[in-house]
Amino acid sequence: MNKELFDALNAAYRGAQADLAQVLPGFSMTSLQEDQALDFLALMLEQNQTLNLSAIRDPEEAIYLHLIDSWTLLPLIDREVQATSGVPTPEARSFTFLDLGTGAGFPGVPVKILRPDLDLYLVDALAKRLKFLDRSLEEIGLSQPWQCVHARAEDLGRQGDFRDRLDFVTARALANLPILLEYALPLVKPGGVFVAMKAKYQDELAQAGQAAQKLGADLEDIRTFTLPRFQADRSFLIYRKLQATARKYPRSNAQIKKNPLS
Ligand code: SAH
Repeated sequence: MNKELFDALNAAYRGAQADLAQVLPGFSMTSLQEDQALDFLALMLEQNQTLNLSAIRDPEEAIYLHLIDSWTLLPLIDREVQATSGVPTPEARSFTFLDLGTGAGFPGVPVKILRPDLDLYLVDALAKRLKFLDRSLEEIGLSQPWQCVHARAEDLGRQGDFRDRLDFVTARALANLPILLEYALPLVKPGGVFVAMKAKYQDELAQAGQAAQKLGADLEDIRTFTLPRFQADRSFLIYRKLQATARKYPRSNAQIKKNPLS
């Protein structure tokens, strides 16, 4: 662990406390969870020098645009876990949460650090990113259950283990909405949700037309906010899966890209 990097991250994290309290009111964590989060970012920034894991290289940007941005999903996850279990202090161990195109682990890893009971799946098509994740998650002692899955989204969507199975699927910076919906929605079980994390979304939403309906889902809600300090626009597009996806989806990647659903 690179001590200089850890100290810079720690200073940026302390400086972000007021913004964190504003973005996530009433939110608390243990010192173990804080250490895991900062250790993970330090490993990521350190290995980024050779592995090309993320465009973000500055500690303060990593705190805001990776850590806090990932944590903004927590209220939505808590709401779904409670709705699924029907009790106020949910046992989330059987609640399946999948981060599609996770890259260097965002938003999946920070979420799991604060909600260690979630059954986490980190999916990426690039093996070197998953190798980094496997090593780093062991090193920070992330609680089981978690699993790094080396696969393309559209292949997983045709596979029995994942098709129509997940409680909560999310993706950040993976693809434009018409393509993203065909990657993600086949994985969600009827009653579950897919949350697309977007900056600007209006044009993509218009292009997506009836894509969600064709895949067995519906747009339930859009939540928009501004991430402080960097004044970054953020929106969650929340899709509810209503029924199992028709057998013909997802199509091959070539078809998905050549002729996106609309
Ligand atoms: N979610 C991360 C990384 C975004 S970059 C973040 O927001 O920081 C997009 C990632 O998706 C890359 O790591 C790339 O390897 C992966 N990816 C691209 N197409 C994919 C596909 N069809 N299936 C699975 N992963 C894919």
